[in-house]
Order: sequence, then structure tokens, then C-alpha cells
Amino acid sequence: MTIGHPRLRWLSHRFGLNPVQGVRPSRIPPYSLRCGVESLECRIVLSSYQLSVNQWATGTGHLTYSIPADGVYWNHGVNAINSSFDQLLGSQWRTAIAQAISEWSSVANIDIAQVPDQGLDFDYGGLAQGDPRFGDIRIGGYNFQNPVVMAVTATPPPFGYTQAGDVQVNLGLNWNLGRDYDFQTVILHELGHSLGLEHSTDPGSMMFEQYEGVRQSLAPDDIQGVQAIYGVRKPDALNAQGFGLSMAAPVAIPQPVLGARISIIHALSLAKSNEADYFEVKVPQGFIGDQLVVTASAGSISMLSPKISQIGSDGSVIQAVSTAGVWGASVSVNVGQVVPGQILRFRVDAAESGRFDIGGYSLTANYQGGQVPVPPVVTVAPVPVPLPVSPPAVVVPPAAPKPVPVAPAQVVQPVTTPVPASPVVTKPTRPAFFHLGRPDRSKPVKPAKPVKPIKKTINTMANKALKPLIIRHI
Ligand SMILES: [Zn+2]
Repeated sequence: MTIGHPRLRWLSHRFGLNPVQGVRPSRIPPYSLRCGVESLECRIVLSSYQLSVNQWATGTGHLTYSIPADGVYWNHGVNAINSSFDQLLGSQWRTAIAQAISEWSSVANIDIAQVPDQGLDFDYGGLAQGDPRFGDIRIGGYNFQNPVVMAVTATPPPFGYTQAGDVQVNLGLNWNLGRDYDFQTVILHELGHSLGLEHSTDPGSMMFEQYEGVRQSLAPDDIQGVQAIYGVRKPDALNAQGFGLSMAAPVAIPQPVLGARISIIHALSLAKSNEADYFEVKVPQGFIGDQLVVTASAGSISMLSPKISQIGSDGSVIQAVSTAGVWGASVSVNVGQVVPGQILRFRVDAAESGRFDIGGYSLTANYQGGQVPVPPVVTVAPVPVPLPVSPPAVVVPPAAPKPVPVAPAQVVQPVTTPVPASPVVTKPTRPAFFHLGRPDRSKPVKPAKPVKPIKKTINTMANKALKPLIIRHI
């Protein structure tokens, strides 16, 4: 139902319209991108949602988003979303984007994190996914000079150079938060397109074609749609094996490799609301006088706002740290000086329930300020200068031998010599891949690939001139 306002359309891509001029560019055949042209069939399913044939690769990493600076070329205009929305909506428009990102990633097996943006132009030559200079999904805007198109969004790769998933917001409308025209409603819809959803025929769906007033949460049809692309969110590998689900079966924080002070556990996740992960550490031998700082970090990993608590053996909270409302946050507890053999327990859950409460993170144990255990080869104390062995005082041999110095190798080392634990005999309590040095899943090791044609990675004026305008969707 239309609520007292014109039936604005989310966007125009469906018909290949230029968002500024409202006409169809001559090079864009209508519906040319609606279904795949490479033997992929358009996956229209029994439910009301509809999927594009495109999606992001998620097998080994995660997605990112960024907000480019004002002044960069943004398809048919110059990006001005920062100054325009800062003045109109305050800083809350950035929170609206983060909440919309979190809404989608919370219900599917996918993590999306905010990253910095170097301010390159829309569709700048580069990688559609994983380019370190900007997010995979970029959100900018300008005045379309068109009162009926609210935003335009490109579908996931492969489209253009890097514009896949990027959003263009029409800054010429009267935007608000919580009332018409609600920016959070619109960005939630557009991000559905960024992830690969088409318009749903369900009027109750977030992905319905028309703006129907303020809607800030996904409908069952939307959730089914995004899960059809990326799957239902799964617990992390440790949880799936039964570790970390309770104090009775905590995840053992591994000992740092010899000579190091830090150990990290990657690929952790809070996969559902009100979930908590439990950890336990036994302070290794040799860490004398250290302060132990344990950090839960979702930065560059997900939208999660974690809370970390040091807990006692009875589960009581000794101390807890969180930053509610901050997405992709890192929080730490410092337990003070520890002694070898001491057992400490921690819990990680969300800073608040229902908001930024689902997503991936890593856990770091950092021993600071104490004595660093080092390999035996560099810790052997200086061998004392051997003293001559005095001859027996009461024996007078016929021919008393001269004192013979004892060879250094035969001298027993002083009992005070520190003997750090050897890495060879120290058995980890968990598989080796939980130790420091495990590949970060944000930087997957990819097999060598054939070199792609240069035209896909070089941004030249000629390329721009020939590049098809694939803004699509709506
Ligand atoms: Zn749309």
C-alpha cells in the first residue's frame, strides 16, 4: 500500500534507465542482464523472491563495503553523500548503512566488514571483489535531477570493473530517518540488490519493487532469498566440534610459539543472537611477570560488536569490556600479572542483543611486559670458567700429578639456569592451525591462476568509452 506519497521506484535498472535522464542508453538492451547469457538459467524459485544469476565469492573470505569521499566521480554525477547526509541526518546515516549491512549478513552465511576507501572513481579499474583500495560494495550519491528514482544499484560480479554491488543514492529527495523517505529502508532494499536479489513479488517483502513506507527489518521472503544464495549461517568450526559452547568445554587458547608473545585464534563466530563462546588459557611456563591482555576483534572481519568478559571458575564476571553501537569493534581485557600454570577463563558474546550481535571475529592472547621465554640455544648461561681440581690434601703420591682443568663440556650447569619449555615436546591442545601464523581468512591463499586479459584490469579512457553501462537492477 502506498502511504501518502508518490509511488517512487527504488531504481531504474530494471528497464536500463539512466537515473539522471530517465532514458534508456542505446547500448543497453532491455533485460540484457536479467538472465544469464552463458547457459545459466534464471533461478526463479517457488517463493516470491527472485535471484540474479550473480553472487559474491564467499568460500574463503568475506565481503567489504566502503563509503567514498565526496568529490569522486560517481557514474552520472559527483559523490556528495557525506556532506549532504551529514548536514541533513547527522552521523546516524552511517549507522543506518551499518545496520542494514548487519541485517543481511546476520541471516546468511556471509560476513561483511567496513573498510577504508581511497576515493577512486566509480567503476575504477581493479578487482570487483577484494580490491584493497576500497570496499567490494561502495555507497555514494548525487542529485539525480529525477524525482521518481530513489537509488540505483549494480548487481554482484561480474559487471563492469569494480562497480558490482555499488549503490548510487539520489540526493535530490527529501531524505529522513524513521519517516519518509526513510534512508534506512532504502539502503536495506538496495543492499539486497548488492547481494544478488531481484525484486520480490511479495508486497510484504523488503525487496518489493515499490517504496511502501518505513520498513527496517527483513521479511521471511527476504531471508529465504539471501539464504538461497549464501546458505544459512553456520557455526564456526570449533563450535561445530563442540568446543566453546560452555564452560565445561571451552576453547583452549594455544600457547604462543617459542619466542613469541601472542597467540591468535581465527575464524571464530557468533552465529546467532545471544550466543556466547567460552575460552580457557593455562599460562605457559616461562611467562614470568607478564600481564595478559585478551582481545576479541571483529575489525575488518564482520559487523559484530563483541563483548569480552573475564570470568571465574563459577562463571561469575570478574571484568567485562564492550562498546555498544560500534560495529566491527575490538575490545580487550587486561587480567594483570599472571604466573605460569595459572588458569584463566573468558567469554565472548555480543555487546547488546539484536544489534551488531552476529558475525565473525578473532581472539588474541597477548603477554606483555614480562620475561620472554626464548629457545635454549640462546638462553644457556655462560659456562663458568673451570677451576683446577685441587689434589687431595692428605695423600702424598710418589709423583703427584699436576692439576688438570676439567673440560667445559664436563661441567654440570648450575641448577639456577632457566630451562624454558621446548617447542618440540610441547603438545598443543588444539590442532596446529589455531596457532599464530595460521593464514588469515581475509587474505586467502589462492592457487595460481592464468593471467587475465590486461583489458580487465587497466582503466583507460578507451576502456571507459567502451564499457557497457551495467547498472542494473533495481
Ligand atoms: Zn529495487
